[in-house]
Amino acid sequence: MGIVQPDNIQALQKKADAYARVKAVIPPMEWAVFEDDILAIQKLKHQRNAIILAHNYQTPEIFHGVADIAGDSLALAREAATAQADVIVMAGVHFMAETAKLLNPKSKVLIPDVKAGCSLAESITADDVRLLRQKYPGVPIITYVNTSAAVKAESDICCTSGNAKKIVESFGVSEVIMLPDEYLAQNVAKETHVKIIAWKGHCEVHERFTAADIELYRQQNPGVIVLAHPECPPDVVAVSDFAGSTAHMIDWVEQNKPKRVVLVTECSMSDNVAANNPDVEFVRPCQLCPHMKRITLKNIRHALETMTTEVFVHDDIAARARVAVERMIAVR
Ligand code: SF4
Repeated sequence: MGIVQPDNIQALQKKADAYARVKAVIPPMEWAVFEDDILAIQKLKHQRNAIILAHNYQTPEIFHGVADIAGDSLALAREAATAQADVIVMAGVHFMAETAKLLNPKSKVLIPDVKAGCSLAESITADDVRLLRQKYPGVPIITYVNTSAAVKAESDICCTSGNAKKIVESFGVSEVIMLPDEYLAQNVAKETHVKIIAWKGHCEVHERFTAADIELYRQQNPGVIVLAHPECPPDVVAVSDFAGSTAHMIDWVEQNKPKRVVLVTECSMSDNVAANNPDVEFVRPCQLCPHMKRITLKNIRHALETMTTEVFVHDDIAARARVAVERMIAVR
Protein backbone atom coordinates (compact mmCIF):
# COMPACT_ATOMS: atom_id res chain seq x y z
CA MET A 1 0.00 0.00 0.00
CA GLY A 2 1.42 3.44 -0.98
CA ILE A 3 1.90 6.41 1.32
CA VAL A 4 -1.13 8.71 1.40
CA GLN A 5 0.08 12.28 0.78
CA PRO A 6 -1.19 15.09 3.08
CA ASP A 7 -3.00 16.90 0.24
CA ASN A 8 -4.69 13.57 -0.60
CA ILE A 9 -5.88 13.21 3.01
CA GLN A 10 -7.21 16.76 2.97
CA ALA A 11 -8.98 16.19 -0.35
CA LEU A 12 -10.50 12.89 0.85
CA GLN A 13 -11.77 14.56 4.01
CA LYS A 14 -13.31 17.42 2.00
CA LYS A 15 -14.98 14.92 -0.31
CA ALA A 16 -16.46 13.03 2.66
CA ASP A 17 -17.67 16.29 4.24
CA ALA A 18 -19.28 17.30 0.95
CA TYR A 19 -21.20 14.04 0.67
CA ALA A 20 -22.46 14.38 4.21
CA ARG A 21 -24.02 17.70 3.11
CA VAL A 22 -25.62 16.51 -0.14
CA LYS A 23 -26.73 12.97 0.67
CA ALA A 24 -30.34 14.20 0.95
CA VAL A 25 -30.32 15.39 -2.67
CA ILE A 26 -27.77 13.16 -4.46
CA PRO A 27 -28.20 9.36 -4.27
CA PRO A 28 -25.00 7.35 -3.53
CA MET A 29 -24.89 5.85 -7.04
CA GLU A 30 -24.93 9.29 -8.62
CA TRP A 31 -22.33 10.61 -6.16
CA ALA A 32 -20.02 7.73 -7.12
CA VAL A 33 -19.90 9.15 -10.65
CA PHE A 34 -18.68 12.49 -9.28
CA GLU A 35 -16.14 11.28 -6.72
CA ASP A 36 -13.12 10.98 -8.97
CA ASP A 37 -13.49 14.52 -10.32
CA ILE A 38 -14.19 15.98 -6.87
CA LEU A 39 -11.05 14.41 -5.44
CA ALA A 40 -8.96 15.57 -8.42
CA ILE A 41 -10.34 19.12 -8.17
CA GLN A 42 -9.64 19.32 -4.43
CA LYS A 43 -6.02 18.31 -5.07
CA LEU A 44 -5.62 20.69 -8.01
CA LYS A 45 -6.97 23.59 -5.94
CA HIS A 46 -4.33 22.90 -3.33
CA GLN A 47 -1.53 22.61 -5.90
CA ARG A 48 -2.54 25.76 -7.82
CA ASN A 49 -3.48 27.88 -4.79
CA ALA A 50 -6.87 28.20 -6.45
CA ILE A 51 -10.35 28.87 -5.17
CA ILE A 52 -13.68 28.09 -6.78
CA LEU A 53 -16.48 30.64 -6.57
CA ALA A 54 -19.83 29.03 -7.37
CA HIS A 55 -23.15 30.72 -8.05
CA ASN A 56 -26.28 29.52 -6.27
CA TYR A 57 -27.52 28.06 -9.58
CA GLN A 58 -24.69 25.55 -9.85
CA THR A 59 -25.57 21.89 -9.35
CA PRO A 60 -25.11 20.39 -5.84
CA GLU A 61 -21.98 18.38 -6.69
CA ILE A 62 -20.30 21.70 -7.59
CA PHE A 63 -22.01 23.88 -4.97
CA HIS A 64 -21.36 21.49 -2.07
CA GLY A 65 -18.63 19.31 -3.58
CA VAL A 66 -15.89 21.70 -4.71
CA ALA A 67 -16.90 25.36 -4.16
CA ASP A 68 -14.92 27.38 -1.63
CA ILE A 69 -17.48 30.15 -1.71
CA ALA A 70 -21.04 29.76 -2.95
CA GLY A 71 -23.46 32.63 -3.20
CA ASP A 72 -25.26 35.20 -5.32
CA SER A 73 -23.55 37.64 -7.71
CA LEU A 74 -22.95 40.19 -4.97
CA ALA A 75 -21.38 37.68 -2.57
CA LEU A 76 -19.14 36.31 -5.33
CA ALA A 77 -18.03 39.83 -6.32
CA ARG A 78 -17.19 40.64 -2.70
CA GLU A 79 -15.23 37.41 -2.29
CA ALA A 80 -13.37 37.95 -5.56
CA ALA A 81 -12.33 41.44 -4.45
CA THR A 82 -10.56 40.17 -1.33
CA ALA A 83 -9.41 36.71 -2.47
CA GLN A 84 -5.72 35.96 -1.87
CA ALA A 85 -5.62 32.99 -4.25
CA ASP A 86 -3.39 32.91 -7.34
CA VAL A 87 -6.25 31.45 -9.35
CA ILE A 88 -10.01 32.04 -9.20
CA VAL A 89 -12.21 29.55 -11.05
CA MET A 90 -15.66 31.00 -11.69
CA ALA A 91 -18.33 28.33 -11.58
CA GLY A 92 -20.87 30.72 -13.01
CA VAL A 93 -21.35 32.69 -16.21
CA HIS A 94 -18.99 34.91 -18.16
CA PHE A 95 -19.99 38.29 -16.71
CA MET A 96 -19.26 36.92 -13.22
CA ALA A 97 -15.76 35.91 -14.29
CA GLU A 98 -15.22 39.37 -15.79
CA THR A 99 -16.40 40.98 -12.54
CA ALA A 100 -13.97 38.82 -10.57
CA LYS A 101 -11.13 39.89 -12.89
CA LEU A 102 -12.04 43.58 -12.56
CA LEU A 103 -11.99 43.36 -8.79
CA ASN A 104 -8.92 41.18 -8.51
CA PRO A 105 -6.68 41.93 -11.51
CA LYS A 106 -3.65 40.16 -9.95
CA SER A 107 -5.36 36.76 -9.83
CA LYS A 108 -5.70 34.56 -12.86
CA VAL A 109 -9.45 34.15 -13.44
CA LEU A 110 -10.59 31.04 -15.28
CA ILE A 111 -13.98 30.16 -16.68
CA PRO A 112 -14.50 26.46 -17.38
CA ASP A 113 -16.67 27.18 -20.46
CA VAL A 114 -16.36 30.51 -22.29
CA LYS A 115 -19.78 29.99 -23.85
CA ALA A 116 -21.48 30.32 -20.44
CA GLY A 117 -23.32 33.56 -21.25
CA CYS A 118 -26.51 35.22 -20.04
CA SER A 119 -29.60 36.48 -21.88
CA LEU A 120 -29.59 39.65 -19.78
CA ALA A 121 -25.93 40.42 -20.44
CA GLU A 122 -26.49 39.85 -24.15
CA SER A 123 -29.50 42.19 -24.31
CA ILE A 124 -27.47 45.40 -24.19
CA THR A 125 -24.20 46.81 -25.56
CA ALA A 126 -21.90 49.66 -24.56
CA ASP A 127 -23.18 51.64 -27.60
CA ASP A 128 -26.75 51.30 -26.30
CA VAL A 129 -25.69 52.78 -22.95
CA ARG A 130 -23.89 55.69 -24.64
CA LEU A 131 -27.06 56.45 -26.63
CA LEU A 132 -29.16 56.39 -23.47
CA ARG A 133 -26.77 58.84 -21.82
CA GLN A 134 -27.21 61.20 -24.76
CA LYS A 135 -30.98 60.83 -24.62
CA TYR A 136 -31.23 61.34 -20.84
CA PRO A 137 -28.39 63.73 -19.94
CA GLY A 138 -27.63 63.91 -16.24
CA VAL A 139 -29.80 60.89 -15.31
CA PRO A 140 -27.73 58.34 -13.33
CA ILE A 141 -27.27 55.00 -15.06
CA ILE A 142 -27.48 51.93 -12.83
CA THR A 143 -26.40 48.69 -14.41
CA TYR A 144 -27.26 45.27 -13.13
CA VAL A 145 -24.15 43.13 -12.59
CA ASN A 146 -25.53 40.76 -15.23
CA THR A 147 -23.83 42.76 -17.99
CA SER A 148 -20.50 42.77 -19.82
CA ALA A 149 -17.56 44.78 -18.48
CA ALA A 150 -17.94 47.12 -21.49
CA VAL A 151 -21.51 47.96 -20.43
CA LYS A 152 -20.48 48.41 -16.79
CA ALA A 153 -17.74 50.78 -17.96
CA GLU A 154 -20.38 53.14 -19.41
CA SER A 155 -22.43 53.13 -16.20
CA ASP A 156 -22.36 55.18 -13.01
CA ILE A 157 -22.84 52.28 -10.64
CA CYS A 158 -23.79 48.60 -10.64
CA CYS A 159 -26.50 46.83 -8.66
CA THR A 160 -27.62 43.28 -7.96
CA SER A 161 -31.11 41.98 -7.29
CA GLY A 162 -30.17 42.04 -3.60
CA ASN A 163 -29.30 45.74 -3.38
CA ALA A 164 -31.14 47.34 -6.34
CA LYS A 165 -33.58 49.44 -4.28
CA LYS A 166 -30.78 50.71 -2.04
CA ILE A 167 -28.67 51.67 -5.07
CA VAL A 168 -31.60 53.41 -6.80
CA GLU A 169 -32.21 55.51 -3.69
CA SER A 170 -28.50 56.15 -3.03
CA PHE A 171 -28.41 58.99 -5.61
CA GLY A 172 -31.12 61.05 -3.88
CA VAL A 173 -32.63 62.02 -7.26
CA SER A 174 -36.14 61.66 -8.67
CA GLU A 175 -35.24 59.65 -11.78
CA VAL A 176 -32.68 56.98 -12.70
CA ILE A 177 -32.03 54.62 -15.59
CA MET A 178 -31.78 50.95 -14.63
CA LEU A 179 -30.40 48.42 -17.11
CA PRO A 180 -30.96 45.91 -18.60
CA ASP A 181 -33.61 43.87 -16.72
CA GLU A 182 -37.04 45.32 -17.37
CA TYR A 183 -38.77 43.18 -14.75
CA LEU A 184 -36.24 43.89 -12.01
CA ALA A 185 -36.66 47.61 -12.77
CA GLN A 186 -40.46 47.34 -12.63
CA ASN A 187 -40.36 45.35 -9.39
CA VAL A 188 -38.01 47.86 -7.74
CA ALA A 189 -40.14 50.77 -9.04
CA LYS A 190 -43.06 49.44 -6.98
CA GLU A 191 -41.00 49.85 -3.80
CA THR A 192 -39.64 53.35 -4.31
CA HIS A 193 -40.74 56.87 -5.21
CA VAL A 194 -37.83 57.18 -7.65
CA LYS A 195 -38.93 57.01 -11.30
CA ILE A 196 -37.08 54.22 -13.10
CA ILE A 197 -36.41 54.23 -16.83
CA ALA A 198 -35.98 50.58 -17.87
CA TRP A 199 -34.46 48.61 -20.75
CA LYS A 200 -36.18 45.62 -22.36
CA GLY A 201 -33.81 42.84 -21.31
CA HIS A 202 -35.15 39.70 -19.65
CA CYS A 203 -33.70 36.67 -17.93
CA GLU A 204 -34.71 33.71 -20.08
CA VAL A 205 -35.22 31.58 -16.95
CA HIS A 206 -37.33 33.91 -14.81
CA GLU A 207 -39.44 35.31 -17.65
CA ARG A 208 -40.90 31.80 -18.16
CA PHE A 209 -42.78 31.86 -14.84
CA THR A 210 -46.38 33.12 -14.93
CA ALA A 211 -48.94 34.12 -12.32
CA ALA A 212 -50.99 31.10 -13.43
CA ASP A 213 -48.02 28.85 -12.50
CA ILE A 214 -48.04 30.28 -8.98
CA GLU A 215 -51.77 29.65 -8.70
CA LEU A 216 -51.20 26.04 -9.78
CA TYR A 217 -48.39 25.51 -7.24
CA ARG A 218 -50.74 26.74 -4.51
CA GLN A 219 -53.62 24.49 -5.66
CA GLN A 220 -51.42 21.41 -5.94
CA ASN A 221 -49.44 22.05 -2.74
CA PRO A 222 -51.75 23.43 -0.05
CA GLY A 223 -50.03 25.80 2.34
CA VAL A 224 -46.95 26.25 0.16
CA ILE A 225 -45.00 29.49 0.69
CA VAL A 226 -43.95 31.10 -2.60
CA LEU A 227 -40.61 32.94 -2.79
CA ALA A 228 -39.92 34.63 -6.15
CA HIS A 229 -36.83 36.17 -7.68
CA PRO A 230 -37.28 39.83 -8.74
CA GLU A 231 -36.19 38.98 -12.30
CA CYS A 232 -39.66 37.37 -12.60
CA PRO A 233 -42.46 39.38 -14.25
CA PRO A 234 -44.18 41.79 -11.80
CA ASP A 235 -47.48 39.84 -11.86
CA VAL A 236 -45.57 36.77 -10.61
CA VAL A 237 -43.94 38.77 -7.81
CA ALA A 238 -47.36 40.29 -6.95
CA VAL A 239 -48.89 36.88 -6.18
CA SER A 240 -45.85 35.56 -4.29
CA ASP A 241 -45.36 35.70 -0.52
CA PHE A 242 -41.85 37.16 -0.69
CA ALA A 243 -39.51 38.43 -3.42
CA GLY A 244 -35.77 38.65 -3.08
CA SER A 245 -32.38 37.75 -4.48
CA THR A 246 -31.15 34.18 -4.21
CA ALA A 247 -29.28 35.13 -1.03
CA HIS A 248 -32.42 36.69 0.45
CA MET A 249 -34.44 33.58 -0.41
CA ILE A 250 -31.92 31.36 1.36
CA ASP A 251 -31.98 33.62 4.43
CA TRP A 252 -35.78 33.60 4.41
CA VAL A 253 -35.92 29.78 4.34
CA GLU A 254 -33.29 29.43 7.07
CA GLN A 255 -34.91 31.97 9.36
CA ASN A 256 -38.55 30.95 8.85
CA LYS A 257 -38.16 27.19 8.27
CA PRO A 258 -41.45 26.89 6.34
CA LYS A 259 -43.07 23.47 6.24
CA ARG A 260 -43.37 23.62 2.45
CA VAL A 261 -41.85 26.17 0.07
CA VAL A 262 -41.36 26.81 -3.64
CA LEU A 263 -38.42 28.88 -4.88
CA VAL A 264 -39.49 30.56 -8.11
CA THR A 265 -36.06 30.65 -9.70
CA GLU A 266 -33.50 28.37 -11.36
CA CYS A 267 -33.92 24.70 -10.39
CA SER A 268 -30.58 23.98 -8.76
CA MET A 269 -31.30 26.52 -6.03
CA SER A 270 -33.84 24.22 -4.41
CA ASP A 271 -31.43 21.28 -4.43
CA ASN A 272 -28.67 23.38 -2.87
CA VAL A 273 -30.87 24.92 -0.19
CA ALA A 274 -32.64 21.61 0.53
CA ALA A 275 -29.30 19.99 1.39
CA ASN A 276 -28.97 22.38 4.35
CA ASN A 277 -32.66 22.35 5.33
CA PRO A 278 -33.75 18.70 5.54
CA ASP A 279 -36.93 19.55 7.49
CA VAL A 280 -38.31 21.84 4.78
CA GLU A 281 -40.28 20.32 1.90
CA PHE A 282 -39.30 21.94 -1.42
CA VAL A 283 -41.79 21.98 -4.28
CA ARG A 284 -39.57 21.93 -7.35
CA PRO A 285 -40.84 23.24 -10.65
CA CYS A 286 -37.77 23.16 -12.87
CA GLN A 287 -36.55 26.01 -15.07
CA LEU A 288 -32.92 25.42 -16.00
CA CYS A 289 -30.45 28.12 -16.98
CA PRO A 290 -28.66 26.58 -19.98
CA HIS A 291 -25.72 28.94 -19.47
CA MET A 292 -25.13 28.03 -15.83
CA LYS A 293 -25.45 24.37 -16.76
CA ARG A 294 -22.48 24.63 -19.12
CA ILE A 295 -20.29 24.47 -16.01
CA THR A 296 -19.60 20.89 -14.92
CA LEU A 297 -17.18 19.07 -12.63
CA LYS A 298 -15.40 17.80 -15.74
CA ASN A 299 -14.74 21.25 -17.19
CA ILE A 300 -13.78 22.69 -13.78
CA ARG A 301 -11.20 19.91 -13.51
CA HIS A 302 -10.02 20.58 -17.05
CA ALA A 303 -9.75 24.33 -16.32
CA LEU A 304 -7.49 23.65 -13.35
CA GLU A 305 -5.42 21.04 -15.18
CA THR A 306 -4.79 23.24 -18.23
CA MET A 307 -5.22 26.68 -16.59
CA THR A 308 -7.77 27.64 -19.24
CA THR A 309 -9.76 29.59 -20.25
CA GLU A 310 -8.35 32.75 -18.76
CA VAL A 311 -10.62 35.81 -18.73
CA PHE A 312 -9.10 39.17 -19.68
CA VAL A 313 -10.64 42.63 -19.67
CA HIS A 314 -9.04 45.51 -21.60
CA ASP A 315 -7.28 47.89 -19.15
CA ASP A 316 -9.32 50.97 -20.07
CA ILE A 317 -12.65 49.13 -19.82
CA ALA A 318 -11.54 47.40 -16.62
CA ALA A 319 -10.61 50.68 -14.93
CA ARG A 320 -13.99 52.29 -15.67
CA ALA A 321 -16.05 49.17 -14.97
CA ARG A 322 -14.21 48.68 -11.66
CA VAL A 323 -15.35 52.11 -10.51
CA ALA A 324 -19.00 51.15 -11.14
CA VAL A 325 -18.66 47.83 -9.30
CA GLU A 326 -16.67 49.28 -6.40
CA ARG A 327 -19.24 52.05 -5.94
CA MET A 328 -21.88 49.34 -5.59
CA ILE A 329 -19.83 47.36 -3.08
CA ALA A 330 -19.33 50.56 -1.04
CA VAL A 331 -23.13 51.07 -0.70
CA ARG A 332 -24.11 49.16 2.44
S1 SF4 B 1 -30.44 32.59 -14.75
FE1 SF4 B 1 -30.98 34.28 -16.12
S2 SF4 B 1 -29.80 36.03 -15.35
FE2 SF4 B 1 -28.87 34.17 -14.46
S3 SF4 B 1 -27.26 33.60 -15.94
FE3 SF4 B 1 -29.10 32.46 -16.54
S4 SF4 B 1 -30.04 33.78 -18.11
FE4 SF4 B 1 -28.59 35.06 -16.99
